[in-house]
Amino acid sequence: MSEREMCLFCKIADKKIPCKMVYEDDSVFAIEDINPKAPVHLLVIPKRHIESLANLNQEDESIIGQLGHLLSIVSILACKRGLHDGGFRTVMNSGAGAGQSVFHLHLHLLGGRSFQWPPG
Ligand code: AMP
Ligand code: ZN
Repeated sequence: MSEREMCLFCKIADKKIPCKMVYEDDSVFAIEDINPKAPVHLLVIPKRHIESLANLNQEDESIIGQLGHLLSIVSILACKRGLHDGGFRTVMNSGAGAGQSVFHLHLHLLGGRSFQWPPG
C-alpha cells in the first residue's frame, strides 16, 4: 500500500474519508478538527504528502512556495472566523515528541478563547 493510501490526511484530500471541509484549492485544504481544542479549531493542510517540517526538502522551491500560500490562507480563514481582533494561535507540531499524531504536515488554527504562553 502506498504512503498516500495509508495517510489519513491524504485520504481526506482524496475524498476517501468524510470531513467538514471549509476551504480547498489546488494545493491546500482546510478542515474542522474532529476533536476541537478551542471554539475555532481548523487544520490547514497542504495536499502534497510531507511528513513534517523536519522532512522538508530545502531545495524544493515549490513546496516552500506552497507553505507561504498556506500561511496566506490561514490569515484569510482567521479573518473569516472573526479572529483578527481577538487573536489566534497557530501551531505546527513536528514529531511525536512535540505532540504530532498525524504524520502529514498540517497547521492548527485555534481561536475564540485565550491562550497561555509558553504552551505546555
Ligand atoms: P497533531 O496531533 O498535531 O498531529 O494533529 C492532528 C489533529 O488531527 C488532531 O487535533 C486531531 O484531533 C485531528 N484529527 C484526527 N483525525 C481527524 C479527522 N478524521 N478529521 C479531522 N481531524 C482529525
Ligand atoms: Zn499524507
